[in-house]
Amino acid sequence: MENENVIEVRNLTKKFGHFTAVDHISFEVHKGEIFGFLGANGAGKTTAMKILCGLSRPTSGEGKVNGYDINREQEKIKRNIGYMSQRFSLYPDLKVWENIRLFGGIYGLSSSTIRAKSEAMLRYLQMENLRNELVGRLPLGWKQKLAFSIALIHEPSIVFLDEPTGGVDPETRRMFWEMIYATAEQGTTIFVTTHYMDEAEYCDRVSIMVDGVIADLDSPAALKQRYHATDMDSVFRQLAVKAQRKE
Ligand code: ATP
Repeated sequence: MENENVIEVRNLTKKFGHFTAVDHISFEVHKGEIFGFLGANGAGKTTAMKILCGLSRPTSGEGKVNGYDINREQEKIKRNIGYMSQRFSLYPDLKVWENIRLFGGIYGLSSSTIRAKSEAMLRYLQMENLRNELVGRLPLGWKQKLAFSIALIHEPSIVFLDEPTGGVDPETRRMFWEMIYATAEQGTTIFVTTHYMDEAEYCDRVSIMVDGVIADLDSPAALKQRYHATDMDSVFRQLAVKAQRKE
């Protein structure tokens, strides 16, 4: 079967004045794959990801996310993707159920749909007894699992995860990745940035950005073979060592 692309970009470029943060990058992401978007600090990941999420316009280049044009259909992109990051996630001063209701409403779901989904979500997360807890009082790992589920509440075909497991303990990271696998198995595409190289191994394909360009992109197995490496950490270091940019 031919791969169906959920993301396609060609020569995507973003300049800030004379500085080119993202420099003519081109790639595709297939439906249902777990796509790792790696790069050293300052490589341009966040800048590129903002464009793919409809939050920023490229200086030049073209592309589609979910079939919507990144230059002309940003509002449609925003409504049709899921997004979670550690920096922007849930409201700590609201209770668990209030966060679910808020984001369900933002994505335009009806009250009855939100109620049904929130019950199913709390059951799945085994958080039924925490529905009245303030999100700010949850351990980070629970917060991130809840944030991931909420990012999927409107059943987007692609979800962007920006360092979703930063600072989370290894056991919870493992559970988080089980959720990612289960979600991808249902056909949802996962676009994930991470600094953890063991997590890069879990991706179907990995792109590694260095100084605004994609230095390489392939499956972890193919990358390891190409760079005569036993793990992704070694692949990453061999590519990132060429970086000129400072953080
Ligand atoms: P990190 O892992 O640290 O988040 P990153 O790969 O996401 O790094 P970006 O945040 O995309 O990197 O930044 C890429 C480069 O563009 C950096 O050198 C950064 O200083 C620069 N940059 C980002 N946003 C702006 C802006 N609004 N104005 C000027 N320069 C910017």
